[in-house]
Amino acid sequence: MNAEPPVLQVRDLVKHYSVGGGFFGRGRKQLRAVDGVSFSIGQGETLGLVGESGCGKSTVGKAVLRLVEPTSGHVSLEGEEITGLGSAALLERRKRMQVIFQDPYSSLNPRMTAGEIVQEPLINFGIGSRAEQRDRVAMLFARVGLRPDQRANYPHEFSGGQRQRLGIARALALGPSVIIGDEPVSALDVSVQAQVINLMMDLQQEFGLSYLFVAHDLGVVEHISHRVAVMYLGKIVEIAARAALFETPRHPYTEALLAAVPVSHPRARRARTVLTGDVPSPINPPPGCRFHTRCPIAVARCRQEEPALVLDASGHGVACHLRAATA
Ligand code: SF4
Repeated sequence: MNAEPPVLQVRDLVKHYSVGGGFFGRGRKQLRAVDGVSFSIGQGETLGLVGESGCGKSTVGKAVLRLVEPTSGHVSLEGEEITGLGSAALLERRKRMQVIFQDPYSSLNPRMTAGEIVQEPLINFGIGSRAEQRDRVAMLFARVGLRPDQRANYPHEFSGGQRQRLGIARALALGPSVIIGDEPVSALDVSVQAQVINLMMDLQQEFGLSYLFVAHDLGVVEHISHRVAVMYLGKIVEIAARAALFETPRHPYTEALLAAVPVSHPRARRARTVLTGDVPSPINPPPGCRFHTRCPIAVARCRQEEPALVLDASGHGVACHLRAATA
């Protein structure tokens, strides 16, 4: 874990959308979905990316993959900058960076059999003979816990958990180094969630995969992540190793998110910071610290001056005037 250089490095990633406006675009506004996000992920490492709905975490995943074009910023995959690559070069790099979506049903072609779905990327990239491709599909089916005879089935014949296993097998077909999971278990029952998470962790060990795991469920993120980044209104407000973030959170927003999660151990205690007010609009985020409209400890400075994300020597980073790390 944490091998150098990082497998995935993201610097100052920005994604703004123009919204609204009338004729000729007059009056259009900028929706600041992602507003300067930086992180890196080492080989075999999982970074969980959490936050409330609309905080921009899924847009980060899409911008990293360039499924949406970033407004600015840099993304490096295995040391190579991929922002700015043309479509042919980018397609080649996509072999190394795959995605698992929340709803596998909508991302799997309903007219293809499961075997064809997993084989398709190998055909598209011209990898191996047809016999070799079929062997790889068989291996992947076994590895994700699907039966050989299920290769002839169509997506609608699978359960939700099985469809997600199929999505994982397809993501693995090209031998990626990074997989971006966009809420990959959010649509599944809790018991099935655990099976799929455990499968992803096993596959990570076996293939040395790095994951960017985007989710709103802190329990799931705590289970799978080595490090966790917390987003609020397009920015990372805290990033730390899993234990540090869950046991000694520093940012008031992280504290509030954790306070909303049931505590499993009877003697465990968490500060009861309760979030009040709605999430402000990313079209017109508050000045200064974006969290100041909901922060229980905000002071005058918070309304004027935006706090930078400051990392301490352990890599625990916090964007807060009052809880800043001492490097
Ligand atoms: Fe709260 Fe101020 Fe810290 Fe923002 S900078 S989280 S408003 S204390």
